[in-house]
Amino acid sequence: MNINSNYQNVKDSYLFSTIARKVNEYTAAHPEAPVIRLGIGDVTLPLCPAVIDAMHKAVDEMSTKEGFHGYGPEQGYGFLKESIQKYYASYGVALDADEIFVSDGAKSDVGNILDLFSADNVVLVPDPVYPVYVDTNIMAGRKIIYMNANEENGFLPLPDASVSCDLIYLCSPNNPTGAAYDRAALKQWVDYAKAQDAVILYDAAYEAFITEDVPRSIFEIEGAKDCAIEFCSFSKTAGFTGTRCGYTIVPLALKDGLLNKMWLRRQTTKFNGVPYIVQRGAAAVFTEEGMAQIQENLSYYKENAKILASALDELGIWYTGGKNSPYIWLKCPNGMESWEFFDYLLENANVVGTPGAGFGENGKNFFRLTAFGDRAKTIEAVERIKKLLSK
Ligand code: PLP
Repeated sequence: MNINSNYQNVKDSYLFSTIARKVNEYTAAHPEAPVIRLGIGDVTLPLCPAVIDAMHKAVDEMSTKEGFHGYGPEQGYGFLKESIQKYYASYGVALDADEIFVSDGAKSDVGNILDLFSADNVVLVPDPVYPVYVDTNIMAGRKIIYMNANEENGFLPLPDASVSCDLIYLCSPNNPTGAAYDRAALKQWVDYAKAQDAVILYDAAYEAFITEDVPRSIFEIEGAKDCAIEFCSFSKTAGFTGTRCGYTIVPLALKDGLLNKMWLRRQTTKFNGVPYIVQRGAAAVFTEEGMAQIQENLSYYKENAKILASALDELGIWYTGGKNSPYIWLKCPNGMESWEFFDYLLENANVVGTPGAGFGENGKNFFRLTAFGDRAKTIEAVERIKKLLSK
């Protein structure tokens, strides 16, 4: 046998293991240190009551002969697809039910979608970036070209007509930078993709955090159905990181329906659907009750983001994110590199964040803080950061 030697080109991911090691070493040496973690990208609030009730009900159904569900449709139950359709319609995007594919989350779909594309496609990826886009393409042996996201463009790079590519990754609101594209910028991307005959892989995992007038979906942009696939997730929207449910929109207009047909074929061959119980929970997110309850949780995180952002405003530190995102991406003070700032913050304020270097070369002098923490701890962290950096 021969292995897929492309795996030898995937860099080991040291980011979160190095963070954990450094924090462990520090707390072993300073057991009393009240360390606050603002590094994780995981939610901390529990599932909302509407979701829990729906899942309990579904469990009870499963215990009866009439209500039992075995294998379901691989692409998701009609009731959930209908709820997703209505949600998109609420901001003006019309979807055909056949364009919606329910899955166990955006990470799997972002990786699996690559089954549909030839290995000789050239991939355009921003730097810094959610590492999954890069690693999944390296595993398949694709050529990756990077576009610079930086302070000059507000970490929102725009297309360069002189660059040729076949697949384009856009994530808005962005992980790790928290920056979100406006309509005019996304229109430029759609026009560029069409001119290139390329496909945009649009990650909308953080759309629920949007507060400003920026698109929640690439399909709000005219012509996007001809050139884009969109990934979304209940993970950050409704706390499903451990429950697992997401959805991908593959338009029927895209390449005359070919990619939709291929994705259906791929999913029905390699995937057996999301558990009925979980899909009932996901559908409850879109009920009036569910929407109000998830908004409460989202508001909690958004308020944390505001608290972090206003501290940086006070300190005069440059940052992106915080408004439409749970992430704050700040420029390390005094020209520090991101790992240096990590150590400085850990040792002097007992606050843990994520070094930007872990997301790409352009993150070298930047640092990610997350709003997913506890309110009191976020406030405490902010006080310590302000005290340390205003010295
Ligand atoms: N896309 C982005 C940009 C993310 O940051 C994450 C998770 O952190 C995901 C996708 C994964 O989402 P899911 O939990 O649905 O797999």
